[in-house]
Amino acid sequence: MNLECDVLIIGGGMAGLVAGTVSAKKGLNTLLLRRGQSATANSSGAIDIIGYMPEVSEPFSSPKEGLSTIAGLYPLHPYSIVGYSDMVDPDRVVDEIAGRVRETVNWLKKNLRKTVSPLKGSFNHNIHPITILGTTKPTCLIQETMYSESLQKDDDSALLFVGFSGHPDFNPSVAAKTYLEDRLSFGEPPRKVGRCILETAPFGKSYNISSIEIARHLDHETSIQDLANQLKRPVEQIGASHVAVPPVLGLKKAVENKLRLEELLGVEVFELLGFPPSVPGLRLQMALESIFRKSGGKMLVGHEAVSYTRAEDRVSGVLVRAPRREIQIDARAYVLATGKFIGGGLNGDENGIREPVFDLMTVTREYHSAEGILPTRFTNRIAISPLGQPVYSCGLTVDPYFRPVGEDGLEWASNLFAAGSILAGYDYSSEKSGLGVAAVSGYSAAKNVLDYIGEVT
Ligand SMILES: Cc1cc2nc3c(=O)[nH]c(=O)nc-3n(C[C@H](O)[C@H](O)[C@H](O)COP(=O)(O)OP(=O)(O)OC[C@H]3O[C@@H](n4cnc5c(N)ncnc54)[C@H](O)[C@@H]3O)c2cc1C
Repeated sequence: MNLECDVLIIGGGMAGLVAGTVSAKKGLNTLLLRRGQSATANSSGAIDIIGYMPEVSEPFSSPKEGLSTIAGLYPLHPYSIVGYSDMVDPDRVVDEIAGRVRETVNWLKKNLRKTVSPLKGSFNHNIHPITILGTTKPTCLIQETMYSESLQKDDDSALLFVGFSGHPDFNPSVAAKTYLEDRLSFGEPPRKVGRCILETAPFGKSYNISSIEIARHLDHETSIQDLANQLKRPVEQIGASHVAVPPVLGLKKAVENKLRLEELLGVEVFELLGFPPSVPGLRLQMALESIFRKSGGKMLVGHEAVSYTRAEDRVSGVLVRAPRREIQIDARAYVLATGKFIGGGLNGDENGIREPVFDLMTVTREYHSAEGILPTRFTNRIAISPLGQPVYSCGLTVDPYFRPVGEDGLEWASNLFAAGSILAGYDYSSEKSGLGVAAVSGYSAAKNVLDYIGEVT
C-alpha cells in the first residue's frame, strides 16, 4: 500500500505534534506516525524552557536570562541554532532566539487554551510550582490545575497537603515537612502547613491505587462532592486557604474539578507536579493530539517508520510497519521527531548509539562520533544529579534549518528536518528544558519545512 502527503512527521510527542499542527494549519496535507507512547506523556506536564545553567545551582529567573547565557556559551545548543539562519544579523542572535521562543510559548498557550491542558505562565519569568516531594522547581508553563496565584504571596496563607489512602505515589507528611522547612528558610509564606489523608476506592479498589485510577474516578460527577465532604473538616481544622493534591484531578475534567472543589470548599485548590506515570503528562499528550487533528492533520498510531528510499539529495519515501501491514509513504518533506531513548529515536547498546530509521550520524556531548561507543560510558551513577546524564546530550547535529548533517557537516538530505529530544547538544535533566526544546525546535523545523515547500513549488 502506498500513501502520499505533503509533510510526513515521524514521532508523536511534543516536537512532532507541534511541527505537525503548524504544518496542517497552513493547509499542507500532513500525516503523523506514532509508534508508541512518548516521553511527553510521561513528563510532569509542566513545560520547562530553561531552568538552570548546567552545573549551577541558582535557577534562572526568566527564560530570557537563561537563553542569553545558553546562546553565549553553547553555540550548538538547539536554542542557539534558532538564531543562526543566514538572514539574522550576528548582533541580533540572542533577540532572534528570545523572539522565537516567546512566539512558541504564546503559540502553545493560545492553541491549548480550549483543551484538557490549558496553560498558565509567561515567557517573562519562571514560576516555581511545588512537586510531590515538597520541593519547588523553575519552569515556564504549567497546566491551569497546577497554578496558585496567591499561595506564596499572601502573608496569611495556610496550605493543606492532601493524600489518598492506598495511593503509594504521594506521601503528604514528607511533602508538608520539606515544603514548610523550605519556606521558613526563605522567611516567606505560607507559614502554616498541614496534611491529611482521604479515603477513596476508585472502582472498588482501596489499595495500591495508581494516579490514573484516581483521575478516572474523579472524572465522575459524584466523586468530587465526596472529596469535598471529606475535606471540609481538615480544611477548617488548620484554617487552610489553599489545598494541594497530587496530580490526579482528572484526565478529562481536571479544570472543572478544580473549580468545583474550590466552589465547594471556598479555598484555592491546585495539583502538585509528579513523576511518571503522569496524569498531567497524559493530558498534555491528549491536548496536543486534539489540536493536531482539529487542524486537519491525520495520525497513524502504532505505525513505525523502519527505513527509507532516496532520490538524489532527497528522501523520496519512508517504509512504515504496523502489526498487520507495511506502507510506503512518500512526502515532499519529512520531520524526524522520534525522541531519545524513551521514545525510541535513539538506540543505545553494545554497538553504540544509533538512529535507527535513517542511520544518521550521532554524536556525543563532546561532538565526537557516538557510533561504537557504549552508552554506559556516558552515565553518572547518581540518577538525578545537577551534573545531569551526559548520555542525554547525545543525538543528531543539525544545520541552521534543523536538517541533520553528515560527517562532512553538510545536510544529509535537503527535505529531512529533525526536532525534539533526538537533537544533540543539551541535557534536559540538568537544564530543565525538555518540553521547551521539543516545542521550539518542532515549531522552528515546521517553519523551515514551510519555506522549503514554498521554494520547491
Ligand atoms: C520522566 C520524565 C519526566 C519529564 N519531565 C519533564 C518536565 O516536567 N518538563 C519538561 O519540560 N520536560 C520533561 N521531561 C522531558 C520531556 O518529556 C522530553 O524532553 C520531551 O517530551 C521530548 O519530546 P519529543 O517530542 O522530542 O519526544 P517524545 O515525547 O519521546 O516523542 C517521541 C515520539 O516518537 C515516536 N517514535 C519513535 N520512533 C518512532 C518510529 N520509528 N516511527 C514512528 N514513531 C516513532 C514515539 O512513539 C513517540 O511518540 C521529562 C522526561 C521524562 C522521561
